Amino acid sequence: MAYDSNNIFAKILRGEIPCKEVYRDDYVLAFHDIAPNAPQHILVIPKGPFSSLADFISQASEAEQLGFWRAVNNIAAQQNISSAFRLITNNGETAGQSVHHFHVHLLAGKPMGGLLP
Ligand code: 5GP
Repeated sequence: MAYDSNNIFAKILRGEIPCKEVYRDDYVLAFHDIAPNAPQHILVIPKGPFSSLADFISQASEAEQLGFWRAVNNIAAQQNISSAFRLITNNGETAGQSVHHFHVHLLAGKPMGGLLP
């Protein structure tokens, strides 16, 4: 899918829509999900215009990719959830992706149970 710069996360990145920010560096922005599915539900997004994981892996530089995944792990540590968290990315609408700016859901704070509900 081609990247649409009017998606909600692009607007958050540009500061046009507020968010509850938890972390920011050269590569990522992380903020609380507006409709949390766990006591801690953080969205981590790259700063670049990538529509999905597949797009991110094929188009982002190695520095952007390494910076992104390192930040995800660092955020878990900063939030004191390194011992138990779940990462989810929905790649494509059939998989449940509703915002077409690549992101991972970082979930923690309760037993997660099975892989799917
Ligand atoms: P997806 O369904 O694409 O995997 O995840 C999109 C996530 O973005 C959802 O969990 C949804 O609650 C969250 N979301 C949608 N709009 C906003 C918003 O304006 N602000 C924040 N913080 N989260 C949002």
